[in-house]
Amino acid sequence: MEQQLQSLRGMVDLLPLATVQWQHLESRAREHFRRAWVGEIRTPLLEPTELFARGIGEATDVVGKEMYSFNDRGDRSCTLRPEGTAGVVRAVIQQGLLSQGPQKLWYSGPMFRYERPQAGRQRQFHQIGLEYLGFADPRSDAEAIALAWDLLEDLGLRGLSLQLNSLGNGEDRLRYRTALVAWLEQRVDQLDPDSQQRLLSNPLRILDSKNPATQALLVDAPSLGASLSTESRQRFEAVQAALGQLAIPYELNPRLVRGLDYYSHTAFEITSAELGAQATVCGGGRYDGLVQQLGGPDTPAIGWAIGMERLALLMASGSELKGAAPDVYLVSKGELAEPFALAVARQLRGAGLAVELDLSRAAFAKQLKRANRSSAPWAVLIGDGEAQSQQVLLKDLREGEEERLDRESLLRRLQGSALGG
Ligand code: ATP
Ligand code: MG
Repeated sequence: MEQQLQSLRGMVDLLPLATVQWQHLESRAREHFRRAWVGEIRTPLLEPTELFARGIGEATDVVGKEMYSFNDRGDRSCTLRPEGTAGVVRAVIQQGLLSQGPQKLWYSGPMFRYERPQAGRQRQFHQIGLEYLGFADPRSDAEAIALAWDLLEDLGLRGLSLQLNSLGNGEDRLRYRTALVAWLEQRVDQLDPDSQQRLLSNPLRILDSKNPATQALLVDAPSLGASLSTESRQRFEAVQAALGQLAIPYELNPRLVRGLDYYSHTAFEITSAELGAQATVCGGGRYDGLVQQLGGPDTPAIGWAIGMERLALLMASGSELKGAAPDVYLVSKGELAEPFALAVARQLRGAGLAVELDLSRAAFAKQLKRANRSSAPWAVLIGDGEAQSQQVLLKDLREGEEERLDRESLLRRLQGSALGG
């Protein structure tokens, strides 16, 4: 026997029972974006490696350790996108969208990171994300955050917490970086090895180290808030006031810095107490410098991304989705009946009904048993006798009643009942 092939580590199959849930959360997201009049953008999964090197930053884990990069046959370095923002920004610049005014965009789809797989962490995973480009007003921060919050609440998630911080502008961050590095340099020996490395490459990231000893040490470190200019502080206060007005609860978290390099001012995460180690379901923030860094005009921007696997985990532990059932289960047996049934199924589908056609050729009783198991409200039964007279038997699977009908009346009957619920 041939050896069985396996998927790559961290790459997961989603089977029909799971995709029912995914379709539900995708359609809720689509509805929230429609109500806020946000347009969908779809960008390639594969981009030039340089886009992420420049857009995310060489010193980040994502670019430094997690990317799926390879040279294509033309010897160009390509990378499977590890996140959505860089590609969206590239597309917006390349297509000249900003000349038409500010843009409210959303995307969804697979992302790729070479990480250690565990619950809620995969190598191919999926995000739904929002990008507001060309908006500087603190109300845009609040609107973006509210969209994520309302979507998660609408999906029935409980125990959510919005963590909020401000990283200030570039100058603020530089000032803080100097203060933090000076303070940490005197305590290098107390830092974990990862953080020691980051002290040179990306010191702000030390703040969100998951090492408990490092976290304990940081309690007394200089705080980012104290380095904010008056202007940055006032901006942050305006964002908080707007969230207050929307009655969206938040917690200030001065350690929150986020993984990617391009953030400024508002940074936030939405976490769930029910997720364990991988607690963050949504991460986002303002990235005022990125568009320019990728060759576009100076453009303020804010965005977020929701991890769909984590969302699915939370929904599984919370709300129950009603199992799907077809409108009709079609049973047929016999030389004339089977091709006739194929045509009837097609006709009903053409009229918008969901029809499961039994293709087994099993005994009538056996097919009927499967019809009952399918939870369809109706079975349509066709034997050679019915086929000969171009009729069918319609069986109400809840009441047990049967009725002989021609194709026209069958359609009217089913459509009437589908409309009546
Ligand atoms: P983490 O600290 O969990 O690694 P991150 O800061 O790398 O998160 P972002 O780049 O901000 O994550 O991505 C936004 C969201 O995408 C995360 O909050 C999470 O829900 C989800 N996500 C990120 N990486 C993965 C992954 N490898 N598998 C599944 N979901 C992920
Ligand atoms: Mg990560």
